[in-house]
Amino acid sequence: MKKLVLLGGGYGNMRVLRELLPNHLPDDVTITLIDRVPYHSLKTEYYALAAGTVSDQEVRVSFPEHPHLHMQYGEVTKIDLEENLIHMANSDPVPYDELIIGLGCEDKFHNIPGANIHTHSIQTIGKARDTYQTLNNLPANSVVSIVGGGLSGIELASELRESRPDLKIKLFDRGKTILSSFPERISRYVQNWFNTNGVDVVNEANITKVEEGILYNNDEPVQSDVIVWTAGIQPNHLVREMDAEKDQQGRVVLTKYHNIPGNEHVYVVGDCASLPYAPSAQLAEGQAEQIVQVMLKRWSDKELPEELPTIKLKGVLGSLGKKQGFGMMAERAITGRIARILKSGVLWMYKYHKG
Ligand SMILES: Cc1cc2nc3c(=O)[nH]c(=O)nc-3n(C[C@H](O)[C@H](O)[C@H](O)COP(=O)(O)OP(=O)(O)OC[C@H]3O[C@@H](n4cnc5c(N)ncnc54)[C@H](O)[C@@H]3O)c2cc1C
Repeated sequence: MKKLVLLGGGYGNMRVLRELLPNHLPDDVTITLIDRVPYHSLKTEYYALAAGTVSDQEVRVSFPEHPHLHMQYGEVTKIDLEENLIHMANSDPVPYDELIIGLGCEDKFHNIPGANIHTHSIQTIGKARDTYQTLNNLPANSVVSIVGGGLSGIELASELRESRPDLKIKLFDRGKTILSSFPERISRYVQNWFNTNGVDVVNEANITKVEEGILYNNDEPVQSDVIVWTAGIQPNHLVREMDAEKDQQGRVVLTKYHNIPGNEHVYVVGDCASLPYAPSAQLAEGQAEQIVQVMLKRWSDKELPEELPTIKLKGVLGSLGKKQGFGMMAERAITGRIARILKSGVLWMYKYHKG
């Protein structure tokens, strides 16, 4: 039997499972899925978990069951590409014949002193839970500073506003205006939402240092009861430590068939892979579909196409609490209730396997 090991049960590898099971897995292949948690975690919803507006159970999806699928739950500590072994914290190493690495990303702190020690995170389900506890245990009128005015910072700030109307929330953003790379209509809409709902957006922010309870913006201290970091990501450290070529963001450079150059048995999917787009769940899924097509062809000794098609992305949708949203769909800016309904619809389809 050929042993396919999937590292990480995130959006990329979950799509691999959905494509291969139940009917497309060759009889001579078994799959071992390794993850630290025994369920697929909906990372795109961690902002709501941290804010306290959805329950823990709502951001978990069961892994599929299949006679050829084995689950191994635990912490991966090293990927050994020389020996074809995955090292684990509390169990024997796991050998593989084929490997898909989909371990997601971590916070990037840009070498800002104290940022990695004194800030909270929403990058793993465990960290999002810790952030939830800290935010929701805060006494009335506490100050929460959120660093990073990208999609996750905006979603967290707005969701937290609805969850805790008493808190003073500050959102620190590098740009002159919030979402400065989006059309002006969206930027204005989001800024208006924050104005109306009492979230203080601090533009042209430059965080220079973080201490316990103090954020330094352009070297000016800002007293904060809690600081949440949403200001940058980088691939999982196990991938950054791997002996393979990386791009400037530390993502693994791949062949056009998504495997490591010179090793057609090791693929990288999702946030750890160097692709010509910003990392996202939909990108991880689109890439995963292509990886499955490539693997199936290789397993049956069929010729690979000269080029793989461009991965099609449908757009971006962000929420502003439970009722409003914004986004770009088919190059068109959308705002308001319709954007929020679309976002909830995408989540529903994903959870119930309709998409
Ligand atoms: C708040 C927020 C909102 C977002 N919103 C959107 C959105 O609206 N649309 C969108 O497309 N994208 C969105 N994203 C980005 C999206 O979540 C990621 O791009 C996507 O999750 C990447 O998928 P992946 O398969 O690479 O990894 P992940 O989905 O992150 O999965 C990685 C898996 O690896 C496991 N793992 C990691 N390290 C180890 C280890 N050492 N040992 C064992 N297991 C390990 C984790 O438990 C996890 O299950 C958002 C992200 C955040 C944080």
